[in-house]
Amino acid sequence: MTHSRYSRRALAFGLSVLLLFTLLPSVFAQRPARPRAEQAATQPAPQRATARVHPRLVLLIVVDQFRYDYLERFNDLFVPNGLRRLMRDGANWTETNYDHMPTYTAPGHATLMTGAWPAETGIVGNDWPDRDTGKMVTSVSDETAVLLDGEEGEKASSPRRLMASTIGDEIRLKTNDRSKVIGISVKDRASILPSGRHANAAYWFSQRSGRMVSSNYYFNQLPAWVKSFNDARPADKYFGARWERLLPEAEYLKRAGADAPPWENIGPIKGDTNTFPHTVTGGAGAPDSDFYGALDYTPFSNDLLLSFAQAAIINEKLGADEDTDVLTLSFSANDYVGHRFGPYSQEAMDITLRVDRSIAALLDFVNTRVGLQNTVVVFTADHGVAPIPEHASALGLSGGRIRTADVLRAMRLGISARYNRKNEQPDPTIDYVQKFENRDGFYNGNLYFNPVALKRDGINQEEIERVACEAAMTVPGISRCFTRMQLQREGIPFADPVARRIFHGFYARRSGDVIVLYEPFKYFGDAIPATHGSPYSYDTHVPLLMMGSGIVPGRYNQAATPADIAPTLASILGLQAPSNSVGRVLVEGINRK
Ligand SMILES: [Zn+2]
Repeated sequence: MTHSRYSRRALAFGLSVLLLFTLLPSVFAQRPARPRAEQAATQPAPQRATARVHPRLVLLIVVDQFRYDYLERFNDLFVPNGLRRLMRDGANWTETNYDHMPTYTAPGHATLMTGAWPAETGIVGNDWPDRDTGKMVTSVSDETAVLLDGEEGEKASSPRRLMASTIGDEIRLKTNDRSKVIGISVKDRASILPSGRHANAAYWFSQRSGRMVSSNYYFNQLPAWVKSFNDARPADKYFGARWERLLPEAEYLKRAGADAPPWENIGPIKGDTNTFPHTVTGGAGAPDSDFYGALDYTPFSNDLLLSFAQAAIINEKLGADEDTDVLTLSFSANDYVGHRFGPYSQEAMDITLRVDRSIAALLDFVNTRVGLQNTVVVFTADHGVAPIPEHASALGLSGGRIRTADVLRAMRLGISARYNRKNEQPDPTIDYVQKFENRDGFYNGNLYFNPVALKRDGINQEEIERVACEAAMTVPGISRCFTRMQLQREGIPFADPVARRIFHGFYARRSGDVIVLYEPFKYFGDAIPATHGSPYSYDTHVPLLMMGSGIVPGRYNQAATPADIAPTLASILGLQAPSNSVGRVLVEGINRK
């Protein structure tokens, strides 16, 4: 299957070169080239677009958990050829916000190349209870898929739950599959979802095998270059490596404060502490799954990803011909580090500076191999992050942690008070909340009712949803509650940004019946020091930088969303927009000639 694709591609390349020579004169006939000096005279320098060359490569760079304000906080510490190059030579949409909730990795990554919200992509979380099977599923879990190069019994993943087409899918449709589309990340969801259902490949890092893996959704065996990449055991060279600060400590004290403030209460980490330098062993004596897991929490896993991406560009010849290829690369380490240490930590600062240098190296590499003038580069994030609640509290902000068990108990009590008025024992309302694999169906703030029990007792769905919402609202820290009936009837005020974001995150077949939201700076649970997922700006406000072919450099303060990326790319590339694309074309930043 792989072989025939390559040979077809070679033939197609030959044909496209022929076609190019045939077409060139007509292109010139339509758009006579003007002398350079004349162009420069008629277009003021800051407004001048990069010449509209048909891009050979679309390069989507995602940093998992990267708040917009990092671009401002650390701007002067970035290197000239990384993020600063994208801001200087590209277009910078400074007011880019996700318009959906939950702001998690999978929904964010699914939005980027589909231009659609979870309400259309169906990716309503990283994982959720599945009504059809009664089991917990992840956004990419697939019982029918087989993992390639993983450990015995390790689960595989595929894009089968993604309901919308991506830019990569549309580009391959346009070029009759001559274009190549590849997704790469440490996380399966972050490689699979942006590349799409018709991608050539998605690769992610197995914490169990320490190798870059894929699934038989794409092919029956890994390409030879991936096997030889893995045979060199590239992860193992980081065993025992020390993660030190990139710059003198004074810079970190000035911008992020002390290395181990009281709210940085991360609990025990095997073989490491919460202060620099961090030694990466995972507490193991030799590279094993504990070590590979620990590697994710360091910039070294970003380095590993960068070298894999470079190998992919070389071996898959990405950007080598006129059929535009797509590479989506998502750096995950920033998310792991941000969860553990919080956005105002020295560690978050350091990994931000380091990912900037990785991006610089990647851009330099792409410039040498493909030419940045032949590439459209997009830089963004899947979500931001809230400060650690204890940190927010220490500052007088309304930080706090809400126990999901408290919210569930309140809803159960409210339901029992309404539907078990005679206080019968056993309580007939006991099974009104659905169980999934023995856990209560209250997940990601979504409550799932048991339709069989409600039908048995003749319970009115609309009413019980209201009863549950009223009960949830009695719990301190809960700010809003939405019901399925409200959302399905679109009875929400669209001018209310929080309601709109909930609505955009609601996919009827997968979301719950009641959706509970907490106040700003609070969140559910105490397992993770810092997290994200809310409709508040610390989670929704992300960078959006585009540079290269067809982009007009500048700083744009117009409101934008990550759902605008796909329709904008479709416009630049002359593509059919992805199936559920709802974003706007960012006309202010693209060459419209
Ligand atoms: Zn995260």
